[in-house]
Amino acid sequence: MPTMQLEIVTAERLVYSEQVNCVVAPGIEGELGILPHHAPLLTTLQPGELRIMREGQADIYLAVSGGFLEVMANRVVVLADAAERADEIDETRAQEAVHRAQEQLEHRSADIDLERALASMRRAQTRLKVVRRRRHPPTPG
Ligand code: ATP
Repeated sequence: MPTMQLEIVTAERLVYSEQVNCVVAPGIEGELGILPHHAPLLTTLQPGELRIMREGQADIYLAVSGGFLEVMANRVVVLADAAERADEIDETRAQEAVHRAQEQLEHRSADIDLERALASMRRAQTRLKVVRRRRHPPTPG
């Protein structure tokens, strides 16, 4: 099965670097599937799950908080605002972030930044989705 190099980086660290068979990323206009030898591409990501598929191994899911994805010369580079693997996610912290965002949305005053509360909610919900996937992996078939 053909492979491509996938690198996921943030301003702080290299999160992931491997040869993979397929990547599904949360593109700004919906899920974006990338296979080896994809045409050059530069696009924006929204907060969501990024799925990595490798032959003969369990899929890996990461929470990404937006950023950019570039494909060039059989190499995919994700420059993420933040990115975490399931085992790096602090579930309690994500739950607290969801609650905080909910509170802000419920008790909204003129000075509360709606976009910001919604974005925070999205990041936190994505983190919960990824961390819970690990506890309840999909059954094969
Ligand atoms: P919080 O409100 O809990 O701070 P946030 O969405 O504002 O969350 P970000 O600004 O997206 O946080 O990320 C800041 C840093 O904290 C990043 O390095 C990110 O990877 C990390 N981070 C955020 N939430 C979690 C979490 N629940 N578990 C592990 N790392 C997290």
